[in-house]
Parts: sequence; structure tokens; C-alpha cells
Amino acid sequence: MIVKNITGLGASIGIAIGNSYIYENEVDFDIEVKFSYKEANENLIENFKKQSEEFQALARQDEADVLEAYILILQDPEITGQISEDISTDAQKIFQVFQSTADIFNSMDDDYFKQRAEDIESVGKHLIYSMQGVVKKTELDENTILIAKDLTPADTSSMDLQKVSGIILKEGGFTSHAVIVAKNLGIPCVIGIKDLLDDIESNTSIAIDGDSGQVLVNPSKEDKDTLLNKHEEYQKIISSFTKEAYEKLGLNFRVNIGSTEEIDSFEHPFLNSIGLFRSEFIYLDSSTAPNLDDQKDVINSIGKKFNGTIVYRTLDIGGDKQVSYLNLPVEENPFLGVRGIRLSLANEDIFTSQVKSILTSECVDQIKIMFPMISTVSDFLEAKSFVENIATELNVSMPQLGIMVETPSSVFLVDKFAEVVDFISIGTNDLTQYIMAADRGNTQLSHYQDPLSPAVIRAISKVIDVGREHNIEVSVCGEMASDPVAAFGLYILGLKTFSMSPNAAPFVFHTITKNHDIDRDSLKETILNANNYLEVREILQKETQ
Ligand code: PEP
Ligand code: MG
Repeated sequence: MIVKNITGLGASIGIAIGNSYIYENEVDFDIEVKFSYKEANENLIENFKKQSEEFQALARQDEADVLEAYILILQDPEITGQISEDISTDAQKIFQVFQSTADIFNSMDDDYFKQRAEDIESVGKHLIYSMQGVVKKTELDENTILIAKDLTPADTSSMDLQKVSGIILKEGGFTSHAVIVAKNLGIPCVIGIKDLLDDIESNTSIAIDGDSGQVLVNPSKEDKDTLLNKHEEYQKIISSFTKEAYEKLGLNFRVNIGSTEEIDSFEHPFLNSIGLFRSEFIYLDSSTAPNLDDQKDVINSIGKKFNGTIVYRTLDIGGDKQVSYLNLPVEENPFLGVRGIRLSLANEDIFTSQVKSILTSECVDQIKIMFPMISTVSDFLEAKSFVENIATELNVSMPQLGIMVETPSSVFLVDKFAEVVDFISIGTNDLTQYIMAADRGNTQLSHYQDPLSPAVIRAISKVIDVGREHNIEVSVCGEMASDPVAAFGLYILGLKTFSMSPNAAPFVFHTITKNHDIDRDSLKETILNANNYLEVREILQKETQ
């Protein structure tokens, strides 16, 4: 009997103990082709349409949307145009067409395009199954620990996720589809285990800890008991996050929203504000520019779910996040290019329609507008007068306007910004990237990417202090606020408003409440004078244990 104790990356918190199911989604080219490309393509489009209608009838709109997007891939002339008559029964050559298209997206240094690459490859696989007459339907037993290379929307939509108690991915990033689904459904998930479970078969007893990333194969009774104790602790932490306790702490917790999936699945008894609405998904999920009504529909849908503040971030695309219908020029250094507010100011039509959709939405009174990638005061003032002109034209009152502090220049100039903005939100993902000169997507640079690096926390501390002096709300909406230890560091620096992924809230709350009467000033002094991020993490971890 194989016994293993391996460690991957914890991607969705929680404990799961169950039996493995090895999900294979590789194509077997040895299976004979029964249908030509044309027939298989038509059949698959029909199937996806039918499945999509079924999902719609069950109010599972996200999955229906994914299947609609798959149909568009099957009909995409870029792909169909490459499949000539003479390869119409050659499964391998047809799959290559999908793969080479996916490779182009994969070479782009951006999670969104990597996700599209996965979708294209997944559709290619389904087309080959369809040519081979292979029916893919995954029947799962109760309490399954799913082990897969990665899971695409087509994979997850063909299985009953209620039966999945844990997910282990060989690959997958923190923002991949499977991880978002796992987090939304509260399924513990470990990623990045590479080939370490390749010798494991289906129906093997497995236990996982989605926090530490631990995976135990054939765990002993003691191992299971230890994890079950941890599970109970998690449950206690989740149930102690009550409205009453939250209000007593006196901090502001908001949530980050960046997809239709996250809007639909959001449900919480008392968290009711969005601290970061990543509006770019409205543009990225569409094959043509969304019109005013499309945009308003999305905004109205968030207004129905959230009755508190909504911090609406204007479009943060450009550079590496290409949207084909916008015809953006290719740039050599996309992260230092025409992105965020720079793109909006250079494309008046897009900016106008986005601002109009906000100012004419049903929940406009709840909305504060936030501009991304601000590096000069004049960019903010230009954006402000843009919004003012539209508000005057529409005869509506001005919303509050704020900036994301995510560039070093906005940190150095924060006192100047404090004189003109209504609020500030620190985007620690980009701020860390730009302060440390370390690409946020490059996995070789992890030792430069921790926002607890002294240079980054000194910058954050300065912004919090200046905000307090000027009586300007300062929040943090980068992933740092979802990491309990790092969020505790932010609390030590004096932060009051945190915007995070919804399922992180009980754990962040627990870490802060447990230690809220600590001597903050002296700890602040200590961490700001530490030598590196490891030291800062160790100090905070010790305090929060
Ligand atoms: C950030 O940079 O911290 C942020 C919240 O924005 P995004 O991750 O969308 O770039
Ligand atoms: Mg950012």
C-alpha cells in the first residue's frame, strides 16, 4: 500500500478526506475516428446548445455561458479556416490546429489569456471525442477527491460537484477556473503537486488540507484525527464570524468581485459591500464591445446582490490584456504600457460608455468610481473632469472618485493625491510588482513577490498614515488582504478597510480579533525595520499563533 505525505500549494481552505478519482482528460488518438470533422463539429455544437439550455433551465447561468463561449470557439473562422477537407478525418492534425491556437494565447503573460488557451484546448479535446464517438460524462461517488492535471469549465460542467469533497491539481494557478469554482463552492483545493501522485489509482484513500497544501495518501488514523481536529477548528472560525462580532471589531470588510460567476455565487448574511469591482471581465468575456445596456445590466445585477458601497474600478486592460475588437497596439513592455487609466484616457468612446453605464445604473448612489494604474496627479484630474462632464451632460450628481495606489510614483505623491481624491485603495499585487521590479506572473521570482517585503510595507504604511492625516479612506484590495497573516500586518500598520475574497473573511477576522489588543505601535516599528519579508512573516506568524 502506498503511503505518502506530500505538500503542494493550498488554494482553497478546508479539510477533505475521501477517495481519489483520477480524472483523465487526455485524448487517446488510437481510438478510431467515426465521424468527419464537419459531422462531429455540428454534433458537438448541437450538444453544447442542448446542455447550455439545460443549465439555463436550472439557473446555472455561468456554465451555460461557458458552453456558449465554446460554441463560438467551434465556429471561430481563425480555427475552422485552418481545417481543410484533406485533414477532415485526421484527429491528430485537427487537434494540432486547436493546440497551436491555444499556444499563441498561452505565450501571453496574462492569466486571462492563459485561461482562454485552456478553453480552446478543452474544446479541441471535446471535438476529437466527438469525432471518435466517445461520450464524456463523469459519474462520481459521494466524497470524491478529484485528482486532475487541471479542470476546465467543460470538465467541471460534466460532473456533479456536490459529490466532490476535495480537488487536487497537478498544475493550475491561484486564479485558474478550477480554483475559482472550488473557492466559490467551499471545496478544499491543493494545486501544483506536479507528478507526485502519478502512481496513485482511483479509489485510494486521500486526505487534503487546502490551507497548508498537505496531501496524505492512505493516511493513518492519527493523521486523519489531526486533520479532523483542524476541520473542527475551521468550522469554529467560520461560525464565530457573526454579524455581532464583526460589528464589534469596528473594521470594514468588503469583497472583491471579478466575474459573473463570483456575482452569482456570492451569498453572505452580512458582508454587503464590494471593495474592488474588476470591471474588465465585462469586456474580456465578450467577442464584441459591450454596449451601454450590457454594461448597465451587469451593474444592476451587482446592485441587487449588494446593498452597501460598491467600489467600481474602471477598465484595467491594455498592454498584455488584449481585447481583439479594441485593436490595441502590441507593446514591448505591456506592464509599463498603455494600461488602466492611460488606456481609458486615450480611448474616449470606451471611457464615455463605461462612465455613462455607471452614472445611469440603478445603484449609482452606492457606487464610488476608482481609477487603476494612476501614476500622476494630472491623470487623475483629467479622469475627474471627464466624469464631471458626463455627469453634467446627464444632469446627475458626481460620485466619489478615488485612485488605486499601485505604482511607486503614487506612493511618493500620496500627500498630493490626498488633496484631490475622495478615497484611496492600495493594489498590493501591482504595487509589489512595481516596487520590487518583479513580474507578478513569473513563478521564478516568488522571493521578490511577497507584499510583506519591508520596502512594500513601508510604502503601504506611508499611504495609510497620509490618508489618516487627511481624513481620506484608505483600503487594501490586493490579495494581501485575503492572507490572514499579511492582513494582520496591515491591521498593525493601521488599516481599517480590507477588501478580500469572500471565503477569506472569517479567517482574516479570526486572526485580527484574536490579537486585536496587541501593542500595535511597537510591532509596527519592528516590522518596518525588519530586513526581509521572511523576517516580517515570521514576526507576524509568531504573534498570531
Ligand atoms: C492589485 O494590483 O493589487 C489589484 C487589486 O488589481 P489587479 O490584481 O486586478 O491588477
Ligand atoms: Mg492592479
